[in-house]
Amino acid sequence: MSNGPSAVLSFDEIDAIARDAVAEGQADRKQAASRKIQPLRKAQRHQPEAAMALLWIVDERSLTREAAADILAEIADAHDDDIAILSRLGMCLEAVRDIDDLNAPPPEHPVFQTMVTRLDRLTARYEGQPEQEQVLRGLATAARMMARQHDAIAEDSLRRLIEIDPQRSAHHYNLGLFYKTRGRFAEGVVANRAAASLSQEAVDSTEWNLGICATGARDAATALDVWKRMEQKIEPGRFRLPEGGYPACKVRLAALPLAERTADRDDPGEEETVWIERLSPCHGIIRSVLYGDVGVDYGDVILMDGAPITHHTYGDEQIPVFPHLATLLRRNYQFFAFAGTQETPRQLADISGELDGDVVIYSHSESVKIMCANCWRNPDLDHAEHATMEKHVVTGRIAAPPDIAPAQLLGMIDKVIAERGSCQLYAPDLCAAAGQSARERIDRRRFAMLTGN
Ligand SMILES: [Zn+2]
Repeated sequence: MSNGPSAVLSFDEIDAIARDAVAEGQADRKQAASRKIQPLRKAQRHQPEAAMALLWIVDERSLTREAAADILAEIADAHDDDIAILSRLGMCLEAVRDIDDLNAPPPEHPVFQTMVTRLDRLTARYEGQPEQEQVLRGLATAARMMARQHDAIAEDSLRRLIEIDPQRSAHHYNLGLFYKTRGRFAEGVVANRAAASLSQEAVDSTEWNLGICATGARDAATALDVWKRMEQKIEPGRFRLPEGGYPACKVRLAALPLAERTADRDDPGEEETVWIERLSPCHGIIRSVLYGDVGVDYGDVILMDGAPITHHTYGDEQIPVFPHLATLLRRNYQFFAFAGTQETPRQLADISGELDGDVVIYSHSESVKIMCANCWRNPDLDHAEHATMEKHVVTGRIAAPPDIAPAQLLGMIDKVIAERGSCQLYAPDLCAAAGQSARERIDRRRFAMLTGN
């Protein structure tokens, strides 16, 4: 930007630039939109109308989030006393966060904290005056965008908005949204019910949040009512929750979802995207055995939010990836690492279908390995030359419900593998748990050979 004195823009000029920038943004030319708004950036310091036009452009998602956050910071800096601009700016903060990435840590850009501080001060100054409502709306959004850093401010602002205008459905909806993302599901049910009762017609987002909060609060009757109103084919099912037939979907699990965090530990920690057997629009059973330690695993029942973070493409299919909202039930499955050999792809993983009681042999990697046949049989026997042998190696973990005894589990797997022939599985920890120490030693050696480099 030039440092020269900037021209005053007419209303028509501001309007034309803003429309142009939004059109570029809609065509996904955000860099071009950024170039077009330069005159507005210069003018906004002394022309509130230019600042307001920029806020509209940001709200329309016409700029990249980073560029938009910088512009919001410039506007905040230039208008530290203008409550119309600052209130609107607070609401615009939703446009500079990826709000679908529910479990993200607090945003790093300083404009978020700046705005919470500013608007918090302003709301005290306008206590009891008509202007306070817009300030509270900006403050509530700004505080809600900062993960768990300012929950008390967010909740207080949202509640005061309801006191000011108790008949306004949107205020109750926003409070319900706050409770949902903070894991306060029973309160979320109450707030979303109030929002629905004050609205002339059923609103999808309110219905969704009511269904999600009811499921989180284990209020199966309310959840079932919601899903049936939304014409889902669903009935009472497992875990005392509604259950219908849904295609599998994916969830990005977090060690600490937003709803299970505090201000002091406000980071998702380890995350992993897994397959879910979807039982309702918002909950399901984890059907991947995890690679990492996320604190939940195969068999656990989780609650997910309604808006996907992204989609994964499998052939012609788009599979939604939802954020992990909370963990409903930890079922404490047993897990045993294994390494095995097979002749055709997925041979070992496919025997899961023949094992009873929700036991799964879950493959994490399949590869071809060259190793010595003599070492494989007995490493203690001297042999002058290593004999090359190719093996199709599978590694992964076995998952089994907690009520199956390890000896029973091992016997079940042995039986199916014996029937199949041509594949082998080595799970030393399972042998140990089953009390088979001699076999454990052999399996551990082979496990090490198959998994070693
Ligand atoms: Zn050898």
